[in-house]
Amino acid sequence: MLSMPLNAAERASQYQLRFWLAHSATDPRIIAPYLIVLIGSNFAIGIITPWGWAAIQLTMVYLVLAYSTHRKLQPWCPWCSEGGGGSHVEDLPPVLPRDRQLV
Ligand SMILES: [Zn+2]
Repeated sequence: MLSMPLNAAERASQYQLRFWLAHSATDPRIIAPYLIVLIGSNFAIGIITPWGWAAIQLTMVYLVLAYSTHRKLQPWCPWCSEGGGGSHVEDLPPVLPRDRQLV
């Protein structure tokens, strides 16, 4: 509760990239090549520079940060709510046949 900001909606509007990343990272077409690069960079120390390796590893830190931000501000995530490409399906009441309506 202490980590919840008082102006959560305003803060959430600043973290659209993190929300997008948190949702995109669940796509196997994106996360599988990313994991290959992330893990493969550990075996390519002789090929890439230490700064290149560090940059690749830092992307994982940012991914964890994106998940943390998403978990904290999920009620304001446009991808989790309607209108942002989420999977929200509006439940409409069933329509009664004309002969069963009261009007
Ligand atoms: Zn979300």
